[in-house]
Amino acid sequence: MTTAARLRAESARLLKEKGGSSQGLVPTMGALHEGHAELARTAVAQNDVVVVSIFVNPLQFGEAADLERYPRTLEADLALLDAVGVDLVFAPEVEEVYPGGQPTVRISAGPMAAKWEGASRPGHFDGALTVVAKLLHYGMPGAAGAELPTYRAYFGQKDAQQLALVQRMVADLNFPVEIVPVPIVRSADGLALSSRNRFLSAGEREAALVLSRALRLIEERANAHQPLDLESAQALVESQPLVELDYFDVVDPRTLEPLAENCRDTPFRGEGLAIIAAKVGPVRLIDNVPLDS
Ligand code: AMP
Repeated sequence: MTTAARLRAESARLLKEKGGSSQGLVPTMGALHEGHAELARTAVAQNDVVVVSIFVNPLQFGEAADLERYPRTLEADLALLDAVGVDLVFAPEVEEVYPGGQPTVRISAGPMAAKWEGASRPGHFDGALTVVAKLLHYGMPGAAGAELPTYRAYFGQKDAQQLALVQRMVADLNFPVEIVPVPIVRSADGLALSSRNRFLSAGEREAALVLSRALRLIEERANAHQPLDLESAQALVESQPLVELDYFDVVDPRTLEPLAENCRDTPFRGEGLAIIAAKVGPVRLIDNVPLDS
């Protein structure tokens, strides 16, 4: 369905018909793969009614060319979501979401959005949070009987900074929704699934494996309570000529602030998140691994 009015009517009807008490939303930009399927599957397992949204949000793209190039595979997406057992797919046109043109009032993602992904994509997270706020409103369940239904929304840990910012927005602005993080889905060789992987040549795809290998090194050291020795893992990435490293660091998973230097040079204990971003050929890739030891 393509309109918010139909979505509201249909989700209310379904929730009532099923005698349900919970609704889940999975926001996506389409070009779905097994990572998105895992989000949808988790939502289906936890909720009576599940809505997946497919919307390529112009607000979060810096360059028009990048927006135009974004893959669109609606037929295949609908088949995948049907197989997973999703109840409703909301795929609005840009005019439905932004009827008056670009919104003049937007979410300001704040200082956490200025670094890492935000540093190379100015305005990206303001645009992303603005559409997530709108999608969270579209997907909100109507009242079912005396109790307010439980409302959950599902986000991949693949986009760790987006997840941290969505959690922050929901807490800071009191959105009545529980944010459920879903672990990264990888291909067998370790590459994190991404809609953009299709733009990698065979050689670039092979080269891209150094990202997950470097992260795994860090994870193994954390699990063994060793110093993380970021430098040697970084050298592994930099030894690959097709890979242009942007950042590689270990941060606090909630604030995304780098962990103190001594966590890298002394045995690692506690919680962290190793994050990496690099350009491989024409494609910017991100990946991360949670550390807990
Ligand atoms: P996108 O369509 O790329 O905007 O992604 C929609 C949602 O799917 C986001 O919450 C992503 O974090 C999540 N996602 C994308 N790739 C993966 C993956 N490989 N594993 C888990 N979640 C993912």
